[in-house]
Amino acid sequence: MQGLMMDFPLTLQHPFQRATTLFRRREIVTQTDDGLHRYTYADWGKRVMQLANALKQAGTEDGDRIATFGWNTYRHFELYYAVPCMGAVLHTLNIRLFAEQLVYIVNDAQDKIIFVDGDLVPVLEKLSDQMPTVKLYVIMGDAPNATGKLQPSIDYETFIGSQPTSYTWPTLDENTAAAMCYTSGTTGNPKGVVYSHRSIYLHSMGIGMADGMALAERDSLLPIVPMFHANAWGGPHAAAMVGARVVFPGRFMDPRKVAHLMIDEKVTVAAGVPTIWIGMVPVVEREGLKFPHLRAIYCGGSAVPRALIENLERNNMNIVHAWGMTETSPLASLCNLRAYQEEWSQEEKFRVRAKQGTMLPGVEFRVVNIDSGQEVPWDNTSYGELQVRGPWIARMYYHDEESSRTKFADGWLRTGDVATVDEDGIVQLVDRTKDLVKSGGEWISSVELEGLIMGHPKVLEACVIAIPDAKWSERPLACVVAKPEFEGKVTKEDIIEFLRPQVAKWWLPDDVVFIDAVPKTSVGKFDKKVLRSRFEAYSTAHD
Ligand code: ADP
Repeated sequence: MQGLMMDFPLTLQHPFQRATTLFRRREIVTQTDDGLHRYTYADWGKRVMQLANALKQAGTEDGDRIATFGWNTYRHFELYYAVPCMGAVLHTLNIRLFAEQLVYIVNDAQDKIIFVDGDLVPVLEKLSDQMPTVKLYVIMGDAPNATGKLQPSIDYETFIGSQPTSYTWPTLDENTAAAMCYTSGTTGNPKGVVYSHRSIYLHSMGIGMADGMALAERDSLLPIVPMFHANAWGGPHAAAMVGARVVFPGRFMDPRKVAHLMIDEKVTVAAGVPTIWIGMVPVVEREGLKFPHLRAIYCGGSAVPRALIENLERNNMNIVHAWGMTETSPLASLCNLRAYQEEWSQEEKFRVRAKQGTMLPGVEFRVVNIDSGQEVPWDNTSYGELQVRGPWIARMYYHDEESSRTKFADGWLRTGDVATVDEDGIVQLVDRTKDLVKSGGEWISSVELEGLIMGHPKVLEACVIAIPDAKWSERPLACVVAKPEFEGKVTKEDIIEFLRPQVAKWWLPDDVVFIDAVPKTSVGKFDKKVLRSRFEAYSTAHD
């Protein structure tokens, strides 16, 4: 027997409709070079439709890839809805990628138009010769350093300015592609992930749930995570669906500026990688900043060190750990405390909050022994590769049969993350398979060591990498950044003695080197590849 419900397509046209009618007076704020830009969802909606008309007039057809190369701004948010609602595909380009990767991605996706923020025009000018599919560049805002080489090009406001403020959206199948984003490609070429209307819709509902990010109309959301990185974790899409106010930081990403924006604009929910919060704690403490409106910071992309959770808590800031990947839209799990944990001591709560948490409804998972392929028991100790499936998990990569076969075997996404699971199904990532330190046939978690070292009061950041070792195969090397006031005043012995009571003896790093800063990837994660090559010579000497 069939259910007797309407076959209502889950497309982005529905949240668009809600935002512009039910929530028409809610505000969208953007930090710009000329101060704060403000308008309402009603204004936004008109411009989204003007943009759709302009794109149509420029020859955009169903399924065309329309790219963006920009910061988190209201214009980017207009593109987030105009492009998919009209049946085209929004391709968000990572503005920090290396030139060759950028060229590869634009050509692989066959982008037809690129919308570029004015200050970023010089980056594309150097590459446009190698991007033959691009027929038009639309420049957003002033471009003081442009040479005029991007051709043909048009200013965004001119592009949409004379267009009608209404547009009749076409009827779309919910499985139509809405957006695409390439993984940063730590190995090999970047891989394209193509989101559908349905997957974005369901992901928005998932993260909106109370044990997700609990997004509500009364929230003011600050997406610090870039809109070019996995749809800014889905925040902007979900915000329109529920009518939350949105505050965009623009290109002003330094922790102090962001902290003041959060206070001035009464931000209730912020989302960003650990790096930004690690950088913000000293500012908050130095200036005695208070965030009376903030209810949660959602943080993921790399492990949230326990010390960061404690440091923020000390300043009355609540950070919630989340896990996901570009391939998982990206949010798959969050660590909100369970009812029975509320009674626990602060110490135990911190320990749990450093875990990646509980999968959202819609996401199924299993943890599989790396050698035997058997599912590991939920005993908080056995570990294996985390695999997930669900309606907002990719089932293959764009144009890449080979990686698709290896990463998406038997209907599960092989995440490449190694995890343990406790008796109640709470997941903790131990490491990435490629970052584990393989010592004498046993594994050492680089992430756990980093988290512990970052708990040392004189340490700002720590990154642990494997170095080759003749006897043990690999051994851990800790690369440590001292807090500025303790530069030169913390030693290898301090770190080792600090770790000694906390880990098994054979986990202790063989050496601790002090560096100025941990190199970061294009999305702000610790770049272990760079550190490994920097310490290649060290490994040889060590052998
Ligand atoms: P990239 O592979 O370029 O880092 P993604 O941004 O898709 O691309 O990153 C996904 C990966 O980031 C995950 O597979 C995982 O290794 C890591 N990650 C994301 N969130 C967390 C987290 N909360 N804790 C630990 N690692 C995380």
